[in-house]
Amino acid sequence: MGRFEFDKYHKRIREGPCLFCSLANHDVDVTQEHYLYEDEFAIVVLDRYPTQYGYSLVFPRQHVEQIFLLDTETYLRLQAIVHKTVKAVQLATGAERVYTACLGSQLLSPHIHYHVVPIFPGLPLEDQQWNALDKSRGVLKYSEQTFSEVATKIMYAMKKIAGEDKDHF
Ligand SMILES: [Zn+2]
Repeated sequence: MGRFEFDKYHKRIREGPCLFCSLANHDVDVTQEHYLYEDEFAIVVLDRYPTQYGYSLVFPRQHVEQIFLLDTETYLRLQAIVHKTVKAVQLATGAERVYTACLGSQLLSPHIHYHVVPIFPGLPLEDQQWNALDKSRGVLKYSEQTFSEVATKIMYAMKKIAGEDKDHF
């Protein structure tokens, strides 16, 4: 585990354009991201600062700041993609559980985004649940090769799931 450089990250998020809109637009400063899935409605990427192997983010393409502003149909459409991402991450990584949490902050990154966070057998209880998402406790330092490998595994799992379920992906 390595230290997460909060100050640098928060400065970029606060002072730059919306991170998730930048990801949706494939802007220049996010070209190093690993996209796992995208369609006209939503996008899935690997988290660049993962606390767990396979940590992914799901967000709507449109800049939406509150779940309560979504109509039910749109909310459920987003949930369906979160659900498929959970299944793909589990299949790709062999996780024993996969957490989801819709976070965001008006002070930092208001564009709604779901954290999809796998945890693995043997993870101590004190590192599970909320602590599994807490980047201040340290983040995994992947090589680019490892990022590419996990991205490939999750994308492969998404395709496999799509073959079994024609309704999504
Ligand atoms: Zn946005």
